[in-house]
This record gives sequence, C-alpha cells and structure tokens, in this order.
Amino acid sequence: MVDLKLSEYFNDIYSVNEGIPEFEMLVNGEWINSDKKQDVVSSLDGSVIGRISVANHDNIDSMVNHAVEAQKEIEKMSLIDRIELLNKVKSEVISKKDELVNIIMIEAGKPKSAAEGEITTLIRRLELSEQDLYSLKGEFIPGDLAQDTVGRSAVLVRKPIGVVLGISPFNYPVYTSANKIIPAILGGNSIIIKPPSADPIALLALAEIFRKAGMPKGVLQVVTGSGSSTGDYLIENNQINMISFTGSTEVGEHITNVAGIKKLHMELGGKAPAIILKDADLDLAAKECVKGSLSLSGQRCDAISRILVVEDVYSKFVEKLKEHMSDFKMGNPIENNSVNMGPLINKKAAERIDSMVKDAISKGCNLVQGGKYNNCYYEPTLLTDVTKDSIIANEETFGPVVTVIKVKDIDDAIEVSNNSKYGLDGCVFTNNISEAFKVMDKVKVGNMSLNVAPSHGTSNFPFGGIKSSGEGKEGIGKSIEEMTVVKTLIFDLSSFGLGKEYSGKFN
Ligand code: NAP
Ligand code: MG
Repeated sequence: MVDLKLSEYFNDIYSVNEGIPEFEMLVNGEWINSDKKQDVVSSLDGSVIGRISVANHDNIDSMVNHAVEAQKEIEKMSLIDRIELLNKVKSEVISKKDELVNIIMIEAGKPKSAAEGEITTLIRRLELSEQDLYSLKGEFIPGDLAQDTVGRSAVLVRKPIGVVLGISPFNYPVYTSANKIIPAILGGNSIIIKPPSADPIALLALAEIFRKAGMPKGVLQVVTGSGSSTGDYLIENNQINMISFTGSTEVGEHITNVAGIKKLHMELGGKAPAIILKDADLDLAAKECVKGSLSLSGQRCDAISRILVVEDVYSKFVEKLKEHMSDFKMGNPIENNSVNMGPLINKKAAERIDSMVKDAISKGCNLVQGGKYNNCYYEPTLLTDVTKDSIIANEETFGPVVTVIKVKDIDDAIEVSNNSKYGLDGCVFTNNISEAFKVMDKVKVGNMSLNVAPSHGTSNFPFGGIKSSGEGKEGIGKSIEEMTVVKTLIFDLSSFGLGKEYSGKFN
C-alpha cells in the first residue's frame, strides 16, 4: 500500500473521505467538487491512492464560460507580467520538486530518475519560456508588389487564439500539460487542461502552484474525469477555439471527427524505426537502441519500436543488443532504488503487450529474453527475426520490447520504415555521411536523429508528426505560433496624403 503524503501547501485541492484523498477541479480560481468520483490507482501495487471528480455538463459549461471571460483579462496583461508570473511558478516548482517527484513515482510508477527528469525538464522549460516571446514578432509587407495594393502597406501581428483545451496522456503526466499551459498563457489565451485519468494528481498539484503564484482566476482551469465521460460534450463546445491534444491516434482521430470548426494541434502515436547500416558504430547503436526501446518501459511516443538491421551486420548487432539488455532492471522503484524500469501504467497495457509478443512468436520470431509479466510488471523483452507481418512490427508498441527486423539493405530499410501509417520519429546509425543523409531525407517522419536515439526533453528542437502521427509542431517558439493567429493590418497611406511612392518604401 503506497501513500501520497501531501504537504499542507496542497490542502485546498482535496478533502479526505474514508482515508482516501478526493481531489477537486480548478474552476475560476477555486477548487470545486462534482457529484461523481473516479478512483486513481497506483501502477506500483494496484492500490487506490485517491479519487478525482468526474466533471458533469454544468461543470464544463461553467468552466468554458469562465475561460472566455478570463481570456479577455490575460490578453490585457503585459508580456513582462506574464513572464514574471511564470518565474514565480518556477520558484515554487523548485521548492516543491521532491513532492511532485514523489506523486509521479506513486501514481505513474516511474523510477525516481525518470520522475526527477520530468520535473527538471519542467523547470528548464519554465526558465526558457521567455524565448517563446520571440515568436510573437510580426512582419511588414510593402504594397507595391501588386498593382491592386500600390499605396498601401500591411503589418502582420499575432493575436491570441482564445480559449484552448489541452488534453494530455499518461506518460509525462505533468510535463505534457505544462508544455501546453506555458505557451497558451504567454500567447494571451486561457486554457482548460484535461489530465489523464490514470495519473492526474501531479498536474492538479501543479495547477495549485499556478493558482498560488497569482494566476488570474479562470486563465488556467482543470477538468477531470475519464475522456469517455467528459468526452464529446467538451470537445464540441463552440466557445473553445483550439484543442491541443497529445495522445493516441485512435482518440486523436475521434476528436478530429467531432470537434467542428476549431484549430487542432495533434501529437499522436508513433512507430519509430531505428535503422542500423553496415558502417554503424555497433556498440553505440546497440546501447542507444536498448535505451530508446526500454526507457520509461517503452511508454514513449518517440520510443524506438522497430530496429531495422541490414543483413551484413545483423548477427553481430543482435549479440551487442543482448549485452545491453542488462542495462535495464525492472521492478518496483519505491521498494528498490536500483530499479530503472518500472511497471506499465495498468494491467490492460501489460496484457496488450503480451498478446503482441505471442502474435510475433506465432509468426516465427525468436524470443531471446523476457516475454513474461505479473500484473503491471512486464519484463524487458528482446524479440529478433520479427516478421514484417507481425502486429508488433506495425502497431505502436508502448511497452518494453526491443523488436529487431532484418532488412536487405538501405533501400529496403527506407521502404519498410515508410510502409507505416505512423510518421512521428526515427533514427539512423551509420558513419557513412551520404547514406546518413539519404535516410534522413527519405524516411517520412516529422523528426529524424543521426547516431542517437530519439529524445525530446524541453522541445528546444521543434517536435511533431506527420501522417497518422499528427499535425502541428510543438516546442519552444512553435507551440505559441500554433496558439496564436496572424492578423493582417492594412494601412492605406494615401489617407495620410502620402502618394504611391510611399507604398512600403521605408528603406
Ligand atoms: P489516450 O488513451 O489517447 O488518452 C490521452 C488523453 O485523451 C487522456 O487524457 C484521455 O483521458 C483523453 N481521452 C480519451 N478518450 C477521450 C475522448 N473520447 N474525448 C476526449 N478525451 C479523451 O492516450 P494515453 O494512453 O494516455 O497515452 C498514450 C498515447 O499517447 C500513445 O499513443 C502515445 O504515442 C501518445 N503520445 C504522443 C505524444 C506525441 O507528442 N506525439 C507524446 C506522448 C504520448 P482518460 O485518461 O481520462 O481516458
Ligand atoms: Mg489510454
């Protein structure tokens, strides 16, 4: 039985009922209850560690109405004051770091290093938030380029998009939401966040930090309850101007189908290939491929989920992979601090991985290591000679399986990579620069790395997918572009008595 042990600072966000903390929702600057509750279960041992409020339609209506009003206020706040507010949030996150880390470890089952990594990245993201503001700069367009605009000039400015709804997945339960909240607020928007039901508590704690730092009421609100119950009623609301969704392709597709006219930013699933060519540094490649496949138990959209190895180096590379499998030790990270791979988010996830592994075995692959599970704990697994028709060669894995597929040569590797509905991430290992360039150019994904496993941290490098992996780019300077709209201001200079010679000729 694990215990959250929250400090007094967080007293306002929950009340205790029969020994279980029942969390509330942040609506217009206040924590409020709803009539229905839902259990939050720790991935570590299945114990109920809290309950969240399930939002009803009245809660949603009131939140959206407050968000509309609050947006007018945040738009009036100067950029200096918005940055100052985020600085205060940063100081509070630093002082509450250990507590936030503990919550993530308990609700998501992350090892300490991973939970600390998430909060450290959040602190860095807050530190870098001033950089987002460079993307708010405008443009000047001279009019004498076209006959019909001679005598006029235009200035392009960025305006807030309005009310943003952010929906986040379970794998980075705080950072993914923060990576939406920060640019939304800097861009002059109000934002409603819907955290994942599997591990929502750390985000509720972060929202309290924002509230106590002086966030104007209604600018950041948090709605809780399973996606299927808050569901379409929230997404369809026509006072919401944008949905920034990170999650599975299936849910992303559903949201796209019901959202109506609003901006959609979609960060969806992936099936990242790692391509190993014959001139690769095989030691480096094996180490990176195991790390890229198994970190966070493989529950990352940018996880390496198929390793395509050219036949010249196949056997040698598989031997190196076997050596590196011992880099990961699976277990309960709270009970044993040498563990660097925790459980999957829930038992259903472990059962899903089990069925994918069994399917691959039935199609003739080699199970070299792992392949067993107990509740949420799935062993680090190595599958080699995986056939291209196996489910695990095609569907997103989201579990701790190193999946190795033999390919003929570089062209075969590119073809297999592209024969996928996904297009999020990928990497290639080689010391041959022309082959590196060819693969980086031809693999159809939104992000491609050379000689390193995909990893995106603070999103200093813009991140986002194509095909069924999404639409839009996330990151410093990029999310704020997605969350603002370009307005074109046209000036007729003749009204100032200026002739056509002034149409843009300020040089
Ligand atoms: P998910 O099942 O799609 O859920 C994501 C979020 O959507 C959760 O908050 C969920 O709420 C909510 N949701 C579910 N059904 C909904 C509905 N009908 N209407 C509105 N919201 C709904 O994804 P997950 O299992 O949490 O996360 C894993 C997935 O996220 C993987 O596919 C992974 O690749 C993807 N991901 C992508 C990126 C990226 O940047 N491209 C980053 C991280 C993760 P509940 O939890 O309450 O169901
Ligand atoms: Mg899910």
